[in-house]
Amino acid sequence: MDDSHTVLENADVLVVDDKIAEIGPNLTAPDGHEEVDATGGILMPGMVDTHRHMWQTAMRGYGADWTLTQYFVWYYLESGKHFRPEDIYAGNLLGALEAIDSGVTTTVDWSHGLQSTDHADAAVDALEAVPGRFVLAYGNIQQGPWEWSTSKEFQDFYRRRIDGGKLAGFQMAFDVTGDPAFPEKAAFEVARELGVPVTTHAGVWGATNDDGIRLMHDGGFMSPGHVYVHAATLSSDSYHRIAATGGSVSVSTESEQSAGQGYPPTWQLRRHGIPVSLSMDTSVWWSGDLFSAMRTTLSADRVREHMEAHGKQETVTHHHLRAEQVVDWATRGGAKALGLDSSLGALTPGRQADIVLLKNDASPVMFPVLNPYGHVAFQAQRGDVHTVVVGGRVVKRDGRLVDADLAAARAKVGATIDHLRSTLGEDAWKQGMNPDIPEARVLHNPYQYTK
Ligand SMILES: [Zn+2]
Repeated sequence: MDDSHTVLENADVLVVDDKIAEIGPNLTAPDGHEEVDATGGILMPGMVDTHRHMWQTAMRGYGADWTLTQYFVWYYLESGKHFRPEDIYAGNLLGALEAIDSGVTTTVDWSHGLQSTDHADAAVDALEAVPGRFVLAYGNIQQGPWEWSTSKEFQDFYRRRIDGGKLAGFQMAFDVTGDPAFPEKAAFEVARELGVPVTTHAGVWGATNDDGIRLMHDGGFMSPGHVYVHAATLSSDSYHRIAATGGSVSVSTESEQSAGQGYPPTWQLRRHGIPVSLSMDTSVWWSGDLFSAMRTTLSADRVREHMEAHGKQETVTHHHLRAEQVVDWATRGGAKALGLDSSLGALTPGRQADIVLLKNDASPVMFPVLNPYGHVAFQAQRGDVHTVVVGGRVVKRDGRLVDADLAAARAKVGATIDHLRSTLGEDAWKQGMNPDIPEARVLHNPYQYTK
């Protein structure tokens, strides 16, 4: 995985300290080295997820049948405000362990449940307890961004935990509703003052639209390094503004398909020359692994191309989106979106040794490996993640996380569930998981036999 998507067969990767020292066949390793036998497997760079609400991992799978509206009601109005700092910690800890276990070595924690800086401290504590790379995207859905971002507490937190801290990066996370008064301006000014990028849910059906993009652009706040999440329901004019100002889009295909933000936009982004990274959004609905992101993104782009052609009575004979491109987006695309591509996202000498080995000798799916990019995108899954290295440190070996206390993580998440369940009450808890099904109307079938 380099600039030209080179595939090397039967090659070695030599890691010295935290970096990739050499790549090629028959390398000689220094005495005392540790060798990982990757025979029959695929080595790829650690994957990068540019948008995951890790705190919500504490409620994994709860919202499988939700729409975006039901999610908003639940997190913004009902359960979200009941999360205590220890609940943020529990969700983040589990989400962080899940990330490295599935080969995602860098994750943006889109942390919009930070109701106080005690919550933010808990979020960072959890991220620092797990040996992956994490970018904190700080947000607070219980206040306007112009409120929390200008508070003394936030500024103190930034100086205390972020500036010169251990995290891989920092972003400010908030959405722009399109209110003509543009109250979010104050938060953009804070971001500019701190010199940090903004990540924002843009082009989300029913929530954010072209007005928000226009306000940001007119205000001069669409800076390089900003990440637009989803960007699914936007006009060509907004895509042009994103492309021209050096932004990128974080595509969460499983989320867009199911929650209803809009059609997964890679078919539009390709046409507008906008850089793409991939993300999983939240484990309250979906899995937290980028294999499904790659697979669904490739499929969504292709089905759109086919359906557009069929509408014109045409046939697609060659796909525009290749498997190698979604593997690129899942690795280099994420590193570029975070401004970390000089050190992450590729397997080349001099880069940080963030490496994933896909290998599973017990699986009939792991041979033959004829087309490695196609294998990663359509065949492999996270159970095939054999070894994960972050900055030269082996954090997963032989399919098992190294030194991870899963029992402790499970106990913390269990305490959070108990707390939410008892606070909300059993009826609300059950009802929230089982939203009403709209009335079904079956079409009259003229071919049905009746006497
Ligand atoms: Zn999101």
